[in-house]
Amino acid sequence: MTRTLRSELYSALAEVFSDPPDWLALSGSQWPLYSIATDLALDSINARLALGKMEGISPEPIAIRQERYNALFSGPGRPRFWLHESLYRSGQLFGSETMDVEGIYRTAGLVIEGAELPDHVSVELAFLAYVANQQVNADQPSGTWVEIEQNFIKTHAGQWLPALGRALAECGDEVYAPIGQLLADWLMGSRQPLHHGYAPTTGLYTPVMQEVENCSLCGFCVQVCPRRVLSIHEDSSKTVLLYSGRSCNGCGKCVRICPARVLILRKLIPGAGTSGEMVVLSSSPRALCPKCGRPTVSQAELEYITGQMGYLPWLELCQECRFISMEDV
Ligand code: SF4
Ligand code: SF4
Repeated sequence: MTRTLRSELYSALAEVFSDPPDWLALSGSQWPLYSIATDLALDSINARLALGKMEGISPEPIAIRQERYNALFSGPGRPRFWLHESLYRSGQLFGSETMDVEGIYRTAGLVIEGAELPDHVSVELAFLAYVANQQVNADQPSGTWVEIEQNFIKTHAGQWLPALGRALAECGDEVYAPIGQLLADWLMGSRQPLHHGYAPTTGLYTPVMQEVENCSLCGFCVQVCPRRVLSIHEDSSKTVLLYSGRSCNGCGKCVRICPARVLILRKLIPGAGTSGEMVVLSSSPRALCPKCGRPTVSQAELEYITGQMGYLPWLELCQECRFISMEDV
C-alpha cells in the first residue's frame, strides 16, 4: 500500500498524542515526525519555527517523556489540556461530538475498537491518516476521500485541534510545544477550501471585514499572513486587529483560516491599491480576571470560547489564578 507523506504526518501526530511512542525518546531531529514534516517542505513561518525547535530537542528516557505527557494530558488532578473533542468543545465527555465522529467513521467503513473514545485526538488523527491513504489506494474516486478529509477537518478536527495545538505551543514544555505548533500549523494551513467561493489570487484582492461582531480576535489570520500585514495589538484596556495593506498580495490565506468567516476578499479597483495606513479591522475590550482584576484575553475571545465550551468559571481567570486554583484542587 502506498502511503502518502500526509498520512504519515497524521499517523505520527496520532502516535504522540496516544502514548509517547519509543521514537519520542530520541533527539528531535531523529523523530519520524521531524523527517516527515521536513520532507513535506512545509513553508509557513510557524512550521519552520516548530521544526527548528524540534531539532534542538535532546534524547531523554521514554519514562521522562511519559511524565511530560502525563503532566500535560492526564493529571494528577485536572489535566492541563483535554484530548477529547467533546470535552474541548462542549465541556463534557462523550458528548454529541463523540457520537457524530463515530457516525462518520462508520460511514467510511470503520469501527473503532480499543480503549480510546472516537473523539480522542489520536483517533481523529488516525482517521485522517486512513482517509489520506485511501486517496491513493482506494477503488472509489480519490475526490470522494479528499472530500471526506476536508469535511472532517471542517466539522471536527479543524474546529478544535488548531486551538489545542496553539495552546500547547505556549505551554513551555520543550517536547510538546513544537509538536503542538506543528499540529496547529498543519490543520490551519491550506487544507480547507476558500470560504465564500473565492479562488486564490495574487495582488488583485484585499481582505475586508464583515460582521465584525463575530470576530473573536483569535489571531489565526495574523499567524498565516505571509506578508505580515495583519497584526494584533493589545494594551491594558483593549485588543485590536490591525491591517496595513501596502504589501498585501491578496493570497486569501487569512480568509481561508478565519474560523468565524468574517473576512472576505474584495477586488481592488485597478490602480487604486491600498493606502498602507493602519486600519482597525476589529477591536474588543479586554476581560478582567474576577480574582485579581488583571486583564486577560479579549472579551470577544472569551465569549467565543464560552460559546464553544459552555460556561466554565476557570475560563475567566488569568493564567496565574488558573494555576493557583488548579493547585487548590
Ligand atoms: S478575522 Fe477571523 S481569524 Fe482574524 S482574528 Fe477575527 S475571527 Fe480570528
Ligand atoms: S490576503 Fe494574504 S497577504 Fe493579504 S492580509 Fe490576507 S493573508 Fe495577508
